[in-house]
Amino acid sequence: MLLADVALPVPIGHAFSYLVPEALGAAVRAGARVICPFGGRRLVGVVLALRDAEPPRGAKPLARLVDGEPAVPPDLLAFLQDLATYYFAPIGEVVRLALPPIDRGTADALGQGPTLFGRTRGVSPRHVRWVMATSAVEGPGALRGQAAAVLAHVRAVGAAPVALLEGQWKSARAAVKRLTQLGLVTVEDRVAPSPPPFASPATRDAPHDATPAQSAAIATIVAALREARSATFLLQGVTGSGKTEVYLRAIAAARELRRGAIVLVPEIALTPQLVARFRARFGDDVAVLHSGLTSRERHAMWTRLRAGGVDVAIGARSALFAPVERLGLVVVDEEHDPSFKQEEGVRYHARDMAIWRAHRAGGVTVLGSATPSLESEQLARSGRATKIRLPDRARSQPLPRVELVDLRRIAPGPTGDRRISLPLFRAIEETLRAREQVILFLNRRGFAPSVRCTSCGQPVVCAACSVALTFHKGTSSVRCHYCDYDAPLGAACSKCGEAAFELEGTGTEKLEETMAAAFPEARVARLDRDVAAGKKVEAILARVRKREVDILVGTQMVTKGHDLPDVTLVGVVNADAALSIPDFRAGERAFQLLVQVAGRAGRGDAPGRVIVQTWDPAQEAVALAARHDVDAFLERELANRRELGYPPLSRSALVRVDAADEQEARHACEQLSRVAREASAARGGQVDVLGPAAAPIARIRSRWRFRVMLRARERPPLRETLAAVDRARPNLARDVRASIDVDPVQLL
Ligand code: ADP
Ligand code: ZN
Repeated sequence: MLLADVALPVPIGHAFSYLVPEALGAAVRAGARVICPFGGRRLVGVVLALRDAEPPRGAKPLARLVDGEPAVPPDLLAFLQDLATYYFAPIGEVVRLALPPIDRGTADALGQGPTLFGRTRGVSPRHVRWVMATSAVEGPGALRGQAAAVLAHVRAVGAAPVALLEGQWKSARAAVKRLTQLGLVTVEDRVAPSPPPFASPATRDAPHDATPAQSAAIATIVAALREARSATFLLQGVTGSGKTEVYLRAIAAARELRRGAIVLVPEIALTPQLVARFRARFGDDVAVLHSGLTSRERHAMWTRLRAGGVDVAIGARSALFAPVERLGLVVVDEEHDPSFKQEEGVRYHARDMAIWRAHRAGGVTVLGSATPSLESEQLARSGRATKIRLPDRARSQPLPRVELVDLRRIAPGPTGDRRISLPLFRAIEETLRAREQVILFLNRRGFAPSVRCTSCGQPVVCAACSVALTFHKGTSSVRCHYCDYDAPLGAACSKCGEAAFELEGTGTEKLEETMAAAFPEARVARLDRDVAAGKKVEAILARVRKREVDILVGTQMVTKGHDLPDVTLVGVVNADAALSIPDFRAGERAFQLLVQVAGRAGRGDAPGRVIVQTWDPAQEAVALAARHDVDAFLERELANRRELGYPPLSRSALVRVDAADEQEARHACEQLSRVAREASAARGGQVDVLGPAAAPIARIRSRWRFRVMLRARERPPLRETLAAVDRARPNLARDVRASIDVDPVQLL
């Protein structure tokens, strides 16, 4: 019997076997989507493999084949299987990452019941009603007015969309109805061509003359592409060194070799300029994948890629799964960015997996950053990646001068707010006077990060999470940044009943207000998650570019790759915030943020200046960022990690457990730790089992959180221990959720 092993979108690790009905036989191939009966439902799955074997008892036949041509090409399918194994993730959920939205016909075949794709109606092509003239002839005087005009027009052009006729004749619809009754025209619904992928056509640009450093970088990458050698490059270029131009030329070279490319960027909404540059170079041959697309648009993009009509895909981490044909190049821009790690569902790291996918396809990976991650640095040091440097800015502007302001010694400026020191205040004044722009970076959104009862000292905390609530002035409410809690500040303290609260600290909302009050002539704008999602980010950045904003206040959103030539001053309001997080990567993260935000200054003709406020200028990450000394930072941080046995000089995984009941969560975590310890002992104790311990944020959304950290020098013993934990997961109490996070990034 012919059997198909099918990945179904259910949280069960393995594939399911189905009989392949004779009628489908040869048409079913690996990578094709099929509809399978499952329990009382029908699900869309993907065929992983076909084999001849004795069918298992109770095996059911496949209900239907969805694709003629497999939705997932063979190299992508193999990659997805590797990924699932590596992350201990259910294959069905992994495969789903690579699938397009399902079409209407498939949705109908699934029936109306809820599917694991959500209750879906499916994507259907848009239809347009056309009118065509018949060979019938009207009697004399039979038609008057618009009907006569419409008929004459349709006869002249042969066929026309009704919508177009309506643009010209107001009662075209009624006229068409009348003409149809008379048998003079017929109507037909035709599938509309998919809408043009972009609302506006791209303005094409000509490549810059590459600088010598860019030329050398391009030559190295192109040589690997020509030899079809799978190689990884770490492109370490200072901010403004023109990394994008290197990507563009490498992609052009790949296309000449008839190879496709994928470009991953941290957050596509924050990089409209970058996308514009790709479109300017390659026109509509670029598929831009972002979360703002409708299902129909996503379906259309996917179809164009899969059919080979487009060979460059650009998008956030999920673009890693784009069905690009003959993949030759994967670029990961700002490879150090933590957003490449997916923190829910399948917890994959798009940067690490980019290397795998390119490797499988015999392609080249380019990891680009001004501040490489320690992981990529270690790849380069161990010879698994080749470092290429762009040491200077492309238009030879100097890197901005960075001044450290010691908040312990320097007085507040005229605003009276300690957060705006006198030197920062004066620098803003000077910049505004010179009619240049300012960016102020503060990594706290909201108005006041905490609220406290002045009578008993009790902080206002979330009822469901163990975190302080943030006061948001815009909505005049307190919000939890971990769950959706958002409510007016209570009239009285929950503990002592007094009605006296004090707002503590400064968030971006307050900073914006302070700036507007201190510099009444200046136009102030804010960029953070509260004001900006998707298209709104673009609008705010466009206003900054058009010089309609003098001071831009924002969270880490302002540190991204923006190329704003008139920004000459960058102020970092509190450099210490990122350093106080309980995470071994806090120093790395703080360093990257500081260097990246500093890199926004002085990208045009006028030199840039950066003011970093800190309570301790001696901290390594701060002091080295002030000198733009990336190499020294990497060297020291790597030494620290080696000494403490942290990644990338060890392998780690986090087992997370949560439950509504604290004891139940703790108990389950103890169970899994025991399993891990036993498995490790069986391997001579090669794996350190740290925990169980309460998570730094002990409770989120009313669930108590515990965890065990696993660490080993080498990967194989770690994998074996994780496999034991994975096998033990189904034995936990019902309400307990346990997840495995391989190479964890977020530790809170
Ligand atoms: P990075 O991504 O390395 O920070 P960008 O790619 O944004 O740098 O380039 C910085 C600026 O330099 C951009 O305005 C870009 O147009 C310009 N640029 C890049 N390469 C060249 C070049 N070879 N000659 C002149 N200008 C260049
Ligand atoms: Zn909460």
